[in-house]
Amino acid sequence: MDAYKKLLLSNKAWVAEKLAIRADFFERTATTQTPAFLWIGCSDSRVPAESVTSTEPGELFVHRNIANLVVHTDLNMLSVLQYAVEVLEVKHIIVCGHYGCGGVRNAMTNRSFGLIDKWLRHIKDVYRAHRRDLETLADVDKRLDRLVEFNVAEQVQNLAETSFVQHAWALHNRPSLHGWVYDIRTGFLKEHAHMKPGTPLEDIYRFDFDDVPRSGS
Ligand SMILES: [Zn+2]
Repeated sequence: MDAYKKLLLSNKAWVAEKLAIRADFFERTATTQTPAFLWIGCSDSRVPAESVTSTEPGELFVHRNIANLVVHTDLNMLSVLQYAVEVLEVKHIIVCGHYGCGGVRNAMTNRSFGLIDKWLRHIKDVYRAHRRDLETLADVDKRLDRLVEFNVAEQVQNLAETSFVQHAWALHNRPSLHGWVYDIRTGFLKEHAHMKPGTPLEDIYRFDFDDVPRSGS
C-alpha cells in the first residue's frame, strides 16, 4: 500500500475511536473554537504539539516554523498571533523549542543551505548575543542544547515586543508568555522562560496606545 493511503485509513480508525468515546466529539467543535493556548513550535516531525501535550482538537491554536522563531516581519506568524490574541483571546502563548533541533544545529555551522540561510540568520543573532556563555561549553551537543534554550527565551522576548501582546497586556492582563523545551530523548517538556502580563520591557520596545491610559497620568 502507498504510504500516504495508510494515513487516510488511520484517519477513519481515529474518527471511530473518538466517536466511541463521545458521540458528539466532532459536533462540539464543528462551529467554533475557544483554545486557551497559542503554540508556536518547530516544524520538526518529532514534536507534534497535540501529542506531546495530550491535547484534543479545539485546545491548541498552532503555528509552526523551522526552529520556532518569532520574527517581527513575518506576516504569517504575526497574523496567527494577532488572531490568537485579539479574536480567540488566548490566555497563554507557548514557544516550544526542542533539543536536537536541525535548524539550530545548522545555524551553529558555517555551511550555506540556500534560502534557509536567511531564516537561520535569526538564530545566529541569538548565538552572538550569548556567545560568551555558549563558548564556555566545549561539547558541541551541550552547546546546541544551551542555544535551543536561549532561542526559546529570545522568542518569548520577541513576542513581548510586539504591539499585539503589549496591547492585550495593558487592556486585559493576558496572555502569559512561556518558553518551553521538549526533550526528544525523554519526551518531557520543561519551562525555560516565562513572562507574566505587564513584565517591564526595555523602554525602546514599549508602545503607548491611544486607548490605554499612560501609567502615572
Ligand atoms: Zn527544530
